Amino acid sequence: ERHVPEIIDVTYTDGSNDTKWCSRDFPWTKNLEINNKRVFGNHSFRPNQREIINATMSGCDVFVLMPTGGGKSLTYQLPALICAGITLVISPLVSLIQDQIMNLLQTNIPAASLSAGMEWGEQQEILRELSSGNSKYKFLYVTPEKVAKSDSLLRHLESLNSHSLLARFVIDEAHCVSQWGHDFRPDYQGLGVLKKKFPNIPMLALTATATASVKEDVVQALGLVNCVVFRQSFNRPNLWYSVVPKTNKCLEDIDKFIRENHFDESGIIYCLSRMDCEKVTEALQKFGHKAAFYHGSMDPAQRAFVQKQWSKDEINIICATVAFGMGINKPDVRFVIHHSLPKSIEGYHQECGRAGRDGQSSSCVLYYSYSDYIRVKHMISQGGPGQGPTTMGYNRLASAGRILETNTENLLRMVSYCENEVDCRRFLQLVHLGETFDSTNCKKTCDNCSSSRSLIDKDVTLIARQLVALVKLTGERFSSAHIIEIYRGSLNQTVKKHRHETLHLHGAGKHLAKSEASRILHYLVTKDILAEYVKKSYLYGSVSSLLKVNRSKADAILSGGQTIIMRFPSAVKVSKTSKSGAIPAKAPLKQTTFTPLMTHAPSQDSILSVTLYTAL
Ligand code: ADP
Ligand code: MG
Ligand code: ZN
Repeated sequence: ERHVPEIIDVTYTDGSNDTKWCSRDFPWTKNLEINNKRVFGNHSFRPNQREIINATMSGCDVFVLMPTGGGKSLTYQLPALICAGITLVISPLVSLIQDQIMNLLQTNIPAASLSAGMEWGEQQEILRELSSGNSKYKFLYVTPEKVAKSDSLLRHLESLNSHSLLARFVIDEAHCVSQWGHDFRPDYQGLGVLKKKFPNIPMLALTATATASVKEDVVQALGLVNCVVFRQSFNRPNLWYSVVPKTNKCLEDIDKFIRENHFDESGIIYCLSRMDCEKVTEALQKFGHKAAFYHGSMDPAQRAFVQKQWSKDEINIICATVAFGMGINKPDVRFVIHHSLPKSIEGYHQECGRAGRDGQSSSCVLYYSYSDYIRVKHMISQGGPGQGPTTMGYNRLASAGRILETNTENLLRMVSYCENEVDCRRFLQLVHLGETFDSTNCKKTCDNCSSSRSLIDKDVTLIARQLVALVKLTGERFSSAHIIEIYRGSLNQTVKKHRHETLHLHGAGKHLAKSEASRILHYLVTKDILAEYVKKSYLYGSVSSLLKVNRSKADAILSGGQTIIMRFPSAVKVSKTSKSGAIPAKAPLKQTTFTPLMTHAPSQDSILSVTLYTAL
């Protein structure tokens, strides 16, 4: 029998809606403002900066979600200056740490770092200086494996703490803690030791990307207590989003797109593999673009050289794997192209976010094909770089299966994003990041909102009712992907095992394309009729995102008191790739009464979905 894992509930307070944090009457307010001007040369605070600083200075654990470029560094650098003692900053990459230290030195603030590459003697020297009682350093930057592997560091922290010289822990790029995140680093999981050893030292976790599940996972793993969460909108109004079918003329399409829209401008093309990076680069060079590639098998000096060339506009286009990105600060990136399917929506959002830092309009184009889905899925199951199970130092086999599952689910969500031809791209991304967005505010800056194709309103009340009933009937313990499997009549093992519970609803939605069924299900989540919640299991050390019914809103649906109308493309496309040779007829779609979707003929979508479905 299935073991029901133990559940922990996580509680937070929402800092963004609490007026006490914007007060200017804290004992440190004056000092803060003076230092912000004098040391950092800033005339004011950016949104949430003052609030975050006040919360962390008050001794609270704080979780910050702020888009890249929003000014997260200041929220710990200022407190570090005006507090006694040392601030320990954990950052994932040596290159990021070097950047930060250089910036601090430019403002005449001495900062130290420890990393695996340094001489033992040099490291001891720094630790001695820090413990000396009148250290010139206010900051110690370290990579996460230092915390996990250096007893010497922990001993020095203990000694600092016993002299009240340990001011604060800062976890930068905190999403790296989570298996759900797109940048999982096993060593980040070891950071839980800090709160265990030093429960009274305030912790500040910062990230530019986190879904609800990632956030919960991070809070759990770090052991944050009654944490105050600050978040602000992740919408980027100056970015233009579109998804384009990827054909075998993809490289010509990319060339044409750049030539017509961004010739000689700066851009990034994200590719799946090292080989792809090199192939795309070569093709673009032939087309007359100044392009270079960047990936993990190049040596660091080579990579640094390419990045520098690109920063100085000696080359325009960098064709890179996702290894290229964190800490890239080029303001005038005019386009981010995805040559293949990203692994998750938050990863995609983050990668697109590297365009248009200067606020000028910029394009994000994703080339989507079903075969890329298979490729990425294969890579994930092989445990590609950063995919958890085979990552160095990570040996908790119990979790490995779960990582695979979450990665696959993240990928499936990305697929349904690409296959969605109706909803606003901003809406889809932001909903995934836990934010509501009114699509009318997109103002036709995504392909779906600016599409001239005609849409038709359809009544999906019956489907909605069945989905809600299914979630309820199965005891609110499955993910949305799993509910869709049951609804569409999957015969896989887990679905079969619980078949008796689902009765007539197993397969009730088999006439629906997978993308349609998920769209309706996700719509119910955005309408608060269903809700996603996170379960954390002590046993497996994992989190899962599951669906539950919001009773107050669901009753109206279940009792038939509410109708649900959604938009769908009105014309059925003829699939060129259909092997059966069947030409789908254009079945008339009724507008007011319920019509089962897609019973008439397979659209390209449903062919994709059927293949997708059997591939699972
Ligand atoms: P993040 O870590 O959120 O991506 P950074 O901390 O690197 O962002 O800050 C991005 C840029 O914004 C930096 O150049 C920083 O100097 C600048 N910045 C931060 N806060 C302010 C402020 N209050 N006023 C003006 N510039 C600021
Ligand atoms: Mg930062
Ligand atoms: Zn839109």
